[in-house]
Amino acid sequence: MLPEIRINLISDTVTQPTEEMLAQMMSAKTGDDVFREDPTVNELEGRMAEIFNKEAGLFCPSGTMTNQIAIKVHTQPLDEMLCDVSSHVYQYELGGYAFHSGIAVTPIHSPKGKLSPEMLSEHIRPAQDWFPNTRLVVVENTGNRAGGLFYTLGELKEISAFCSSSGLSLHLDGARIFNAMVAGGYGGKEVGPLMDSISVCLSKGLGAPVGSVLLGTAEFIARARKIRKVMGGGMRQAGILAAAGLYALDHHIERLRDDHRRASKLRESLLKCSYVHSVKDAPTNILIFELEEALDTASFLQQLRLHGIQASAFGRQSIRFVTHLDLSDEMIEEVCHVLENGILVP
Ligand SMILES: *Cc1c(COP(=O)(O)O)cnc(C)c1O
Repeated sequence: MLPEIRINLISDTVTQPTEEMLAQMMSAKTGDDVFREDPTVNELEGRMAEIFNKEAGLFCPSGTMTNQIAIKVHTQPLDEMLCDVSSHVYQYELGGYAFHSGIAVTPIHSPKGKLSPEMLSEHIRPAQDWFPNTRLVVVENTGNRAGGLFYTLGELKEISAFCSSSGLSLHLDGARIFNAMVAGGYGGKEVGPLMDSISVCLSKGLGAPVGSVLLGTAEFIARARKIRKVMGGGMRQAGILAAAGLYALDHHIERLRDDHRRASKLRESLLKCSYVHSVKDAPTNILIFELEEALDTASFLQQLRLHGIQASAFGRQSIRFVTHLDLSDEMIEEVCHVLENGILVP
């Protein structure tokens, strides 16, 4: 029988709510949010909007929903969006841009998973009857498949200026925007005004059990509320969930530095291992590395599993580790020890 999983490196979505977070959830004031009468949801939406200097917010069940609502509000059928080929909206949302919004996509193969005005300008379509209308750009910060890379504030400013001058809307998939802000040394008030809309996940690094917040102008969010309802995302006494988000905003942002430091520690350990072919930079909480041909991913993962450690494959020879709230320095040391001493190469 396999030992129980004690150290889960699969994703930052696996965290359990802490006791303090649960206590705040249990004592949340609630109301019917479809009637806008849940004070805790209203507080979370207002607070997040204020952090990013946007007019309004909308609490939704998932980051997929906040992204898909944003795409729907920004576009018309026969429009097109531009995003990096590795981005969540292209890879992991089932082609929702086509399903919900009837738009096309041009995924851009950027060298490092980060877009630039030069790359975007190459892909804007001329106005011809046979082309979709290039309408929307989606940037992901930090980039998930990109290995937790973050945009600098300067890079975001360049993209924003380019989109404004080209008549393109700009949506930020900020599932891990707080990781980017902590690592990049910039604040929400600097990022927010550069974007037309932002999706922020509470259930990733922030450690809440459920939810994402969509941000934009009051007019944008009024439209988004209708789309959320038609998608079945109008929730009733959702303040119980929003309370976890408020708790996370108070207590789980600065500590993201620990996650980043721990990902770097794992990276240093992997660099010492002869069965590791290459390790990407780990600027935030995501670490992607490749194994030498002699060791296949299934065997590597199985050996970790025998030590109670779980991780996931991220390509043929690729593995991803993600650090999060439910890990400690001791656990990271244990993983390093197993990586350096406990892996057999057949
Ligand atoms: C997790 C994630 C989302 C949203 O995911 P949900 O599971 O639907 O909340 C969106 N974008 C990125 C980059 C993500 O990592």
